[in-house]
Amino acid sequence: MEKIKKDMPTGDSFASSCNACKQCTPLGACIAFKGIEGVLPMLHGSQGCATYIRRYLISHYREPVDIASSNFSEETTIFGGNRNFNTGIDNIISQYQPKVVAIASTCLSETIGEDVPKLINEYKAINADKPEVPEMIFASTPSYNGTHAEGFFNAILAAVKTLAESGEKTGSHINLISSLVSPEDIRHLKEILEDFGLEAMLFPDYSDTLDNTSWDSYTRIPDGGTPISQLKASGSARATVELGFIKNSGGMNGKIKDNYLVQSAGQFLKDKFDVPCFETGLPVGINETDKFLEIMSSLSGNPVPEKYKRQRGRLVDLYIDGHKYLSGKKTVIFGEEDMVVALAAFASEIGIKPVLCATGGESGKLRETLTKLLGPMYDEETIIGQGMSFDRMDEVMQQIKPDLMIGNSKGYYIARKMDIPIVRCGFPIHDRIGAQHFRMLGYEGATTFFSQIVNTLLEDKQRKSPVGYKYM
Ligand code: SF4
Repeated sequence: MEKIKKDMPTGDSFASSCNACKQCTPLGACIAFKGIEGVLPMLHGSQGCATYIRRYLISHYREPVDIASSNFSEETTIFGGNRNFNTGIDNIISQYQPKVVAIASTCLSETIGEDVPKLINEYKAINADKPEVPEMIFASTPSYNGTHAEGFFNAILAAVKTLAESGEKTGSHINLISSLVSPEDIRHLKEILEDFGLEAMLFPDYSDTLDNTSWDSYTRIPDGGTPISQLKASGSARATVELGFIKNSGGMNGKIKDNYLVQSAGQFLKDKFDVPCFETGLPVGINETDKFLEIMSSLSGNPVPEKYKRQRGRLVDLYIDGHKYLSGKKTVIFGEEDMVVALAAFASEIGIKPVLCATGGESGKLRETLTKLLGPMYDEETIIGQGMSFDRMDEVMQQIKPDLMIGNSKGYYIARKMDIPIVRCGFPIHDRIGAQHFRMLGYEGATTFFSQIVNTLLEDKQRKSPVGYKYM
C-alpha cells in the first residue's frame, strides 16, 4: 500500500491534473459580479469561456445568466483585443443599459498580456461625452493562477477598489463581505443583520439575481444585487466583517502574486480608509455561529435575539438525537478552501472525523487554518490535500476507506465507485435541483444540514441492510 502523506503535494509534483477539484477563475468572478446591482458581467477573451461559464452557472442556480464576451478570434489573439473590447462595451450599453459592466480576464487575454485597465481608460476617454457609459470594474482572473474561489474574492476586491469612496465615518453602517454561499444563505445573513438592527452593506448579494421568481417575460438584468451607493459608502463604514480565512491566497501557493489577489476587500478598506476589519469563519455549526453572532452583537450593541437562542437550543437537542448515528464516522470533505475549513469545523463539532480535507486551492494555508480554528478538536492524522484533483482523491480514498463524502456534486463518481453516500453542498451541484436553496449558515442552516447528513447515512445503512428495517 502506498504510504499516504499527511500533506498531499500541490502542483509542484504534478505535470498535469486530471479532473481538478476546482473550477475556472473567471467563473467565480462572474458569481461575485452577479451580486452587484444592475450589472452585466463580461469576459475579455474567447466566446467559449463565456459559454462554458454560463452553462455551468445555469445548471447550478437554474436561473438565466447573461455573460458578455469580447469574442477573441485568431486575429485578436495576435493583434490584441481593443477593437473587440470597444465594440463589446458599445453593444452591451445599447442592448442592456447596465449600471455596471464588470469585466474579468480569461486565460487567453492574460497570456497575450492584454492591459484591460488601459482599455477601460481609453474607452472612457473616447466616450467622455456620453452619460450612458456605466461604471466599469475589472478583475484579473487568469485561470492558470487560481481557482473559482480566488476569482470570486478577486472580483469582490476589484468592485470595492473601484467603487468605495472615502467619507466621514459619521453613519452607523457596517460592511458584511460574504463568501461563496447559496442565495438562501445570503438571505439568512440579511435576516441576521436586520434582527440585530444593523444598517449594513452585504456584498456580494446575488440572493435575487441568481435565485429569482418566475417571470412572464425575460428580464435581461434582474433586480437585486448590492446597491452601488452602498459599495461607494463602504469606505466610510464603521467596520467590515469578512467571512472566511483563506480568501487572499495570492494564487498558487502564494508564489504568483503579480497582478493577482494578495489582499482581501476588508483588508483593502482597512488600509485605504481605516475601516476596522473583523475576520471570522463561515458560521456553520454552533461554535462558528456563536462567534459570528457575538460580532453582530458587539457591533450593534444589541443582545443576541431570543429567536436565535431558541434556534441554538433546538440544534443542541438535535445533536443529542443524532450523535449516535454519526459518532466515529469518517468523512472526506472537499471544495473551496474556506468551505473545507467550515465543513471540517462542523464535522468535528458533530463527532464525524474528517479524514481527508481536499481542495483545488493552493494557498498552502489549509492545515495551519484548520489547526488554529479547531484547536484541540484538530486531528493530526487528517490528510490535507491542496491543489488536489478528483483522480488523486480517488487514489487516496481507496486506502483510507471513508464512510461518507461531503462536498459538491463533482465527487459523485468516486462515491458511486466506492458505494458510499455523498452529501451535496457548496458549488457546483449539477445532479440535483435546489442548490440555490441549500442552507448551512446559522443555527437553522446547521439544523437542516445536520439532519441531511444523519439521514443520508441512515438511508445508506438501510439500503445496504440484508433484511431491511423500518424502526430504529
Ligand atoms: S480557457 Fe481559461 S478562462 Fe476560459 S474557460 Fe478555460 S479555464 Fe476558464
